[in-house]
Amino acid sequence: MNTPQLIDPFARAITYLRVSVTDRCDFRCVYCMSENMTFLPKKELLTLEELDRMCSAFIGLGVEKLRITGGEPLVRREIMTFFRGMTRHLESGALQELTLTTNGSQLARFADDLYAAGVRRVNVSLDTLDEEKFARVTRWGRLPQVLKGIDAAQKAGLRVKLNAVALKGFNEEELFSLTEWCAGRDIDLTWIEVMPMGDLGNEDRVGQYWPVSEIQAQLAQRYRVTELAHKTGGPARYVRLEETGQQIGFITPLTHNFCESCNRVRLTCTGQLYMCLGQEDMMDLRAPLRSSESDAPLVEAIHKAIGLKPKGHDFDYSRQRADGQVSRHMSHTGG
Ligand code: SAM
Ligand code: SF4
Repeated sequence: MNTPQLIDPFARAITYLRVSVTDRCDFRCVYCMSENMTFLPKKELLTLEELDRMCSAFIGLGVEKLRITGGEPLVRREIMTFFRGMTRHLESGALQELTLTTNGSQLARFADDLYAAGVRRVNVSLDTLDEEKFARVTRWGRLPQVLKGIDAAQKAGLRVKLNAVALKGFNEEELFSLTEWCAGRDIDLTWIEVMPMGDLGNEDRVGQYWPVSEIQAQLAQRYRVTELAHKTGGPARYVRLEETGQQIGFITPLTHNFCESCNRVRLTCTGQLYMCLGQEDMMDLRAPLRSSESDAPLVEAIHKAIGLKPKGHDFDYSRQRADGQVSRHMSHTGG
């Protein structure tokens, strides 16, 4: 294990890096992207070699956990080369965990390769088990393909966790059916409150807001719910349903303040480091990376960025409008 070297001004050790490897996606989820997205020109993106250098620099500075996201990480061409590159850090013990968040559409193709590269857990985003509703929320997605992907992942030995965005009037009625479907497959489930990201456009995100406190209350009507103490350093809280033994997570970026234990930063596919999901502060790491074959300028810029990590974010729905909204799309920063 490396000694953490990235300590922010609030004495938080930064040991977790989330990396968006592409802004592209084969879905167009309504809360994440607009129907006709303009994507970045290829030259803006970090190459696979640059992604490797970037992640390796962070690992050298004490990052122990890497989560690959996007866009849809598995639509990036040759992305397995990158995953296989990270295997060396798992083998050396510097990296404790290599994971990804995916929409599951390409998992049937890549599950075995991911396992071979050292990935042991994947988060699959799935909001509904109804084919027609799935098509509506993802615009371009097909549910059977994702279910096939989940099967393949489990068969390959990957532990699957489902992330569902809680949307009022959309998947409320599936609370119990989704819970039971997951229990039957030994899959943990995490509910995410919808965040005011990107362009709200015509969509009424405040009206879609289904607070996870309500979900928890509804679960408690059917199950014996035990609060679990373990902390992840992130925005998730966990409970156990005694009847099923299942762990249910709640990500409440809007109603809970989790910032004091924040241990993470996010790198976009263009090499910008966001120190906080809810703030605009960022540091460009691509220029220092490209400026020299030596990592020295990059390492210096990373230290400088961590020194600027803000104390917390300002999301707030309590005044019935999406305060603290940031203009980026989730697919840009990586979820
Ligand atoms: N394409 C991959 C996927 O869907 O899992 C990875 C990237 S996606 C941006 C990461 C996560 O962000 C997904 O679980 C998605 O549901 C979530 N997400 C996207 N937009 C969101 C929003 N406005 N509020 C809350 N979660 C959001
Ligand atoms: Fe694509 Fe994931 Fe965004 Fe859906 S949430 S559009 S799958 S990046």
